[in-house]
Amino acid sequence: MLALDTPVQFVKGIGPQLAEKLEEKRIAIVEDLLYHLPFRYEDRAHPRALNELVPGETVSVLGEVRGTALLRTRSMPIFEMTVGQGPISLKCMWFHGTYLKDKFQPGQMLALYGKVEASRSRSGSFKMIQPQIEILPGPNDTETALLEVGRIVPVYESLGGARLSSRWLRRVIHNILEAPGPRVAETLPGVLCERMQLPDRATALREVHFPPQETKLSQLQAAATPAHQRLIFEELFYLELGLELKRRRMRERPGFAFATGERVRAALKNILPFHPTTAQKRVLAEIVDDMRQPTPMRRLLQGDVGSGKTIVALQAALVAIENGYQAALMAPTEILATQHYLAARKLLERADRQSPYCVVPLTGSLEEDRKRANRGRIVRGEANLVIGTHALIEEKVEFANLGLVIVDEQHRFGVMQRFRLMKKPNAAEPHVLVMTATPIPRTLALTLYGDLDVSVLDELPPGRTPIVTRRTSDENAPEVWEFLRKQVKAGRQAYIVYPVIEGPSDDQPELDFPRDEESPVEDSAKKPKAAPRKAAAKKSSSLFEEKDGKPSLKSAVAMFEALRATHLAGLRLGLLHGRMDANEKESNMRRFQRGELDVLVATTVIEVGVDVPNASMMVIEHAERFGLAQMHQLRGRVGRGAAKSYCILMTGGKVSPQAEERLDAMTRTQDGFELAELDLALRGPGEFFGTRQAGLPDFRVANLLRDRKLLELARREAHHFVQCGEQEMPREAVTAVWTHLKAHWQRHYGLVEAG
Ligand code: ADP
Ligand code: MG
Repeated sequence: MLALDTPVQFVKGIGPQLAEKLEEKRIAIVEDLLYHLPFRYEDRAHPRALNELVPGETVSVLGEVRGTALLRTRSMPIFEMTVGQGPISLKCMWFHGTYLKDKFQPGQMLALYGKVEASRSRSGSFKMIQPQIEILPGPNDTETALLEVGRIVPVYESLGGARLSSRWLRRVIHNILEAPGPRVAETLPGVLCERMQLPDRATALREVHFPPQETKLSQLQAAATPAHQRLIFEELFYLELGLELKRRRMRERPGFAFATGERVRAALKNILPFHPTTAQKRVLAEIVDDMRQPTPMRRLLQGDVGSGKTIVALQAALVAIENGYQAALMAPTEILATQHYLAARKLLERADRQSPYCVVPLTGSLEEDRKRANRGRIVRGEANLVIGTHALIEEKVEFANLGLVIVDEQHRFGVMQRFRLMKKPNAAEPHVLVMTATPIPRTLALTLYGDLDVSVLDELPPGRTPIVTRRTSDENAPEVWEFLRKQVKAGRQAYIVYPVIEGPSDDQPELDFPRDEESPVEDSAKKPKAAPRKAAAKKSSSLFEEKDGKPSLKSAVAMFEALRATHLAGLRLGLLHGRMDANEKESNMRRFQRGELDVLVATTVIEVGVDVPNASMMVIEHAERFGLAQMHQLRGRVGRGAAKSYCILMTGGKVSPQAEERLDAMTRTQDGFELAELDLALRGPGEFFGTRQAGLPDFRVANLLRDRKLLELARREAHHFVQCGEQEMPREAVTAVWTHLKAHWQRHYGLVEAG
């Protein structure tokens, strides 16, 4: 008898050897196989007739082998096959197709899947280049025929070579579904399924693999059948339930209930250098409201670049300080920490107060003496506000009475670090405010930060003028430099950003965006490498040359020297990159901040947070190499003052279609959320934050891009579930859900346990 947790080796058709192979693909038990869903379907009950083909469409067709030939052309062997249906025929070709030579016999029936192209040699006829192919079972093989013809057929991602092919999976999964044994246990409360009209789990699993005859193919492809929706909902429901639970557990812990009387309010007002925007007021109110509760705050503050998060954070810090507690502000880079430190000192020291606030820096680059002294002030409680980098958590700094932790630009920290920081051994836990300027699309926020409350700064401070964004290529560089000179002459400053620090061999150390892949192969069917491309005719300029076929990039260091000697001679240029020593970095940054430098030639170290309102021009070279989020961040460095600002995206080298889309989006909109959505669509959720460490769960069925609506629904239902009463949800149902969650949380979602 098969159960969901039966090891796969006991499934008919598998055995110990294959089980080992499957294990490598993280398929260990029956359930894993059942959740390996088809990635597309073919309707072989209603196949497309060969005389109804339309060039450009990707379709599945059935046909009979008429003839084959292996052509040895000069560049490569090509396997050709003519497939027919009555009087009509279709030509198929496979490059480097020698391996197909003896595979087919005339008269065999085939299922083909591929893109239809008009044949050049014979007008009115069509061809398919490298279609996916399956030989259909002959008249004597009725068992296989049952699964492969005259029905909607599932197509699977192969689990390894020809052995664990789509066809093999079809058979094995069919065996499981047909095997006698305890049926697939239900995981959702019956009440919920009924109310939402979801099919039960067993039915859903059966139907995603072998859809009923009348199912619409378009619905199947879009994962929109009731069966799909049920499985997706289930997965998202449990995810949201787990997050909801974490939220609730957090709420049960002791925190500091801060007072916010007249005195505190006066102190907050006292440090304001300008009128806060309505959004800033609203967000501060939300934060302060949390800090008044006897449970620790866990809040995410999202605000596009330049929306003014810093002042809100400092005001939150003041609430803690005025209550006699310490606050800590953590930034992802030294530059940013230093900037925050200077800004905080300026604001807090202005404050009219008998004993001035004590702001203390703590970064990795401080001299040991100073570090030691500062640690002393922190542990003795003299320091009111501590500002630093990762050093704050990495070096286990001891606080006297830490009441609030602020994490700036959180997307740079791993989630782990976030939790490590939150786990302080004290009885009461500090409040935590996490800030990010990476506008996180709502779907991602719901999954990544479902356990945090969210505030959004959705308004820019007054007086900002939109940034003019233009794209241009290398050849127009002289014009760009000319324009930059004009900006400087008008008293403004500029940034010029490069993807690499130094030299062509530099491996983009500061670029978080992967090189564009060649267009990904859509299916996993064995395909020989694409035909060799003609070497693209390429112009070479002194600035952009391909060496050994590898494009060399302009680098910050080289261009700093080059520009200083040529186009930008006479201007005051400074250099900033991650490999400089901290003092030099800080000094250049400060000089730029004070207006002693006109131009900062940099890498992406200036990406986040740097605030120089007088800078009005951002030039990004090799813009085709940067990710959308990154470019948006960089552009956010200008347009912070009242002066009209410019962002010039210069491309040098081949611009891939994806890069084209990114550049296009940048010139089209300045809305961070819109760009983030697009970035998510282009890169996929896994890559959105650059690395897997961002803590995104590994979904088996759900797809964050496709299933947003269901995610929202799942969140609402999860929220409802934990608080609905017994008259709505029977106690056994509740217990069953918790049991299932406990058993599956770690395995399926792989999320960090918040403890
Ligand atoms: P970010 O949200 O990107 O961290 P900052 O806090 O650095 O933004 O603020 C960007 C700039 O806007 C800073 O120069 C800051 O002083 C200024 N600023 C913030 N809020 C206001 C406001 N309400 N009125 C005017 N200027 C503001
Ligand atoms: Mg900031």
